[in-house]
Amino acid sequence: MVKFEEVLAKVKQFHPNDDLEVLKEAYRFSADQHKGQHRESGEPFLNHPVAVANILADMRLDSSCVSVGLLHDVVEDTVIPLKKIEQHFGKDIANIINGLTKIRKFHIDSKEAEQAENFRRMFLAMVDDIRVVLVKLADRLHNMRTLKFLPPERRTRIAQETLDIYAPIAHRLGMGKIRGELEDLAFITLSPESYFQIEKEVKEKRKIRKKFLNDTKEKLIKKCKQHKISCTVESRIKRTYSIYQKVKNQKIPVEQVYDLLAIRIITASVDDCYVVLGIIHNLWQPVPGRIKDYIALPRPNMYQSIHTSVIEKRGQPFEVQIRTNEMHRVAEEGIAAHWKYKLGQKTDKNDDQRFLWLRHLVEWHQEVNDPSDFLRALKVDLYPEEVYTFSPKGKVVALPRQATPVDFAYAIHSEVGDSCVGAKVNGRIVSLKSQLKNGDIVEIQTQRGQFPNRDWLSFVKTYRARNRIKHYLNVNQKKKAIELGRRILEKEARRYKINIKKYIEDGSLLNVAQEFNCAKMEDLYVALGFGRVFGRTLLSKVLSPEELKDRFSEKTGFLSSTVKKVFRRPLQDTLKVKNIDDILVSRAKCCNPIKGEEIVGYLTRGKGVAVHATRCTNVGNLLYNADRKVDVLWTGINEGLYGVKLSISVDDRRGMLAEITSQISKIKTNIKDIEAQSFEDNRGLINVTIEVDDIKHLEKTIKSIKMIKNINEIVWQ
Ligand code: MN
Repeated sequence: MVKFEEVLAKVKQFHPNDDLEVLKEAYRFSADQHKGQHRESGEPFLNHPVAVANILADMRLDSSCVSVGLLHDVVEDTVIPLKKIEQHFGKDIANIINGLTKIRKFHIDSKEAEQAENFRRMFLAMVDDIRVVLVKLADRLHNMRTLKFLPPERRTRIAQETLDIYAPIAHRLGMGKIRGELEDLAFITLSPESYFQIEKEVKEKRKIRKKFLNDTKEKLIKKCKQHKISCTVESRIKRTYSIYQKVKNQKIPVEQVYDLLAIRIITASVDDCYVVLGIIHNLWQPVPGRIKDYIALPRPNMYQSIHTSVIEKRGQPFEVQIRTNEMHRVAEEGIAAHWKYKLGQKTDKNDDQRFLWLRHLVEWHQEVNDPSDFLRALKVDLYPEEVYTFSPKGKVVALPRQATPVDFAYAIHSEVGDSCVGAKVNGRIVSLKSQLKNGDIVEIQTQRGQFPNRDWLSFVKTYRARNRIKHYLNVNQKKKAIELGRRILEKEARRYKINIKKYIEDGSLLNVAQEFNCAKMEDLYVALGFGRVFGRTLLSKVLSPEELKDRFSEKTGFLSSTVKKVFRRPLQDTLKVKNIDDILVSRAKCCNPIKGEEIVGYLTRGKGVAVHATRCTNVGNLLYNADRKVDVLWTGINEGLYGVKLSISVDDRRGMLAEITSQISKIKTNIKDIEAQSFEDNRGLINVTIEVDDIKHLEKTIKSIKMIKNINEIVWQ
């Protein structure tokens, strides 16, 4: 059992300037609150918080962090409101305790690898102060050490959770020692047979191996002395759980685990590390492909070392790790060690380089003047791109930041998304647009017969949701077009007393359809529905010339114009919707865009795509619905198709009109219409409609008119 005095002494040793009164007060407070409580083992409950504080003190954390170790169960196990903690111990300590309470409500119980990873990430995403994680790990470590007192079922659950979540988190934060202990403790609980099997195999030859390691150590120390390198040499036999994993994953006997035996050399400088590497490769045969230089290329969790595997004369392989003192501390204690270094000294440029990865994850508080505030000021956002949410059944759903309940619904299942009508977050009804936060429990309400809403596209954040909604809208639109197309055809057929059924059944309509690039009747209906093909055009092609004569010409006189339309190159040839062929495209009447102008397409209901010039004042209003915006292009050649009305205001003088007309015809531009007005103040207005090929042609024409004297302004409508 750890005594509080020991903890106090450690903090005093590592942090001589810290306020120990806070620590003592935390102890008194905790002792008072946990009075009369006992653990499952029968010992007083207070032993647990003291042990946790001791683990934190060993990590050389400061007095407030160790105080949290003492207080961590106070809010949970007794009825102390957080406010009281804050009054007693200040905001900093209260905040860490609050962070602990926040993550305590999640019981993580999943063997699914992907879910476990999501849990780990969510766990880290939910804390903004990494000290919360450190206290949680210390708490878990002590609970694991005393696990045997719990009933078997809880034991298994906690051990599995430790293996799935906490050990990997310790690993991720670079805390090798804690990770190793957590893993072994969990392993004993979960598979005692495998554990003892491996233990046995390792133990059998333990004596021989111990001797081997000692001999090797001595040899190495001697050599280093010859090279005047001061170093400490440690040796170890690999941890049981790690051996088990290698044996299991690589399907090899314990003997063949290369790093079963390992020697570690801790030097004073980086240069010495490389000299020692040379010495080792001189003494023993290195195994090809097993030299790893994590000094030059540190691992993302800041781990640095040189690794190499060598084989001794008699065939015994072992691993060698070479690192400096500082690297050793980081390897053993990870993030905690990093903080230790940071405390009491300002960051320098080198540090910035070394912890580049951390800066990725960490939001630095720029205004840190007092370096001792570093710990407190260090706020982390470990997954700034993501948010982790729960289904009511406890499944973790990872989404991008700012994701909404609709994204969540589609992440669960596309049908849930399609029929979603409302959402509850943490039991409260929220809007489908609201943004989800880490740890939110999201419940989606669905209703049969509900469909995705076009408006959702304006706020969903996931590709999955976006694609599904678009897919639905497209399918739906096509369905509607087919229906509309079929009705149009029937109506036209009735009008001209054509038995359309006959032409459908004998396939002649389908033959004609192919002329319009429609392979199936369905495509033909879509084309009719979108207005790409006109019903009468189609019918005129199905009927024989005699039938045509009878039906159309006398009645409506429409045939001639229909036929003309078919033969005349239609306007839409020069306009094309990007990536789509079978859709009607027309120029918007409000702005009549001219070939070459900047244009934008707008998907209308039932009339295909209307193309506006971007200068058009309607564009802003229409395109509020971004989803109906389509990219359109000018293609092909088309001459003299664009009638443009120019209003030319002039000083009225003799010959003006003639000059303008001659100037226009000089550059081979057709005038379709021209009219002139004069006003009392000696001003005139000439409206001329010209035909141009494209925007360049128009610009050329305007430029050439402007060369005439006394032209004031030309407005193009
Ligand atoms: Mn605890």
